Amino acid sequence: MYTFTLPSGLEAELREMTGAEESLLTNRRLMKDGEAVNQVLRNCLARLGDKTEFGAKDVLDLLSGDRLFLLVKLRQISFGDEVDLTLTCPAKDCGETTDVHIALDDLEVTSYGTEREFIFELPRSKKPVIFTLLDGHMEKRLAVLKAPDLHSAMLMRVKEIDGKAPNKNSLAELPAFDLNALRAEMQRVDGGIDTSIHTVCSSCGARIVTRLEAEPPFLFPNVRL
Ligand SMILES: [Zn+2]
Repeated sequence: MYTFTLPSGLEAELREMTGAEESLLTNRRLMKDGEAVNQVLRNCLARLGDKTEFGAKDVLDLLSGDRLFLLVKLRQISFGDEVDLTLTCPAKDCGETTDVHIALDDLEVTSYGTEREFIFELPRSKKPVIFTLLDGHMEKRLAVLKAPDLHSAMLMRVKEIDGKAPNKNSLAELPAFDLNALRAEMQRVDGGIDTSIHTVCSSCGARIVTRLEAEPPFLFPNVRL
């Protein structure tokens, strides 16, 4: 068994993945709405704080940074620390591949503070915004959105704008300057593990940006999907 301290400060114990979890993660239907990852986390968690038995709600209650951290640790204890990615260049006429090597232990972890709710005054419109941290419940709602956009995850975190619950147009109506400031403030208070990958194509120099968990070798080091 492996013990870790999550970005929120909670202590968690994990066991390695087995074939049962591998099956879950290759189930396209379950992967699509994020349910596979929820079930894998639930299966492999042996302890969370004082808890040793988990329902579906327990893994959704976790903050997103804790959830991703657990997934990275699960990969580490199940398949090792090293991840080799072969990324395809997004530039139109290139399409060449670039190899990237990641050591999971080197990923930057940011701890959450103790607050769970934040008040921020938008600099242009002077409206107060109350927002929270992203958790598994919100991730689940995001995963089933038909047309998620740049604002979907932000909107999910907003509880009130100017004293009112937000609707789907609340952010679109704000000055971009305010949105940008709100985004920065949300990032400032966020915790988690940085799985973003920024590199350049070894052939043409185009920028390649992706997330580790979106790349198949992260969870399936030797499977060609
Ligand atoms: Zn290229």
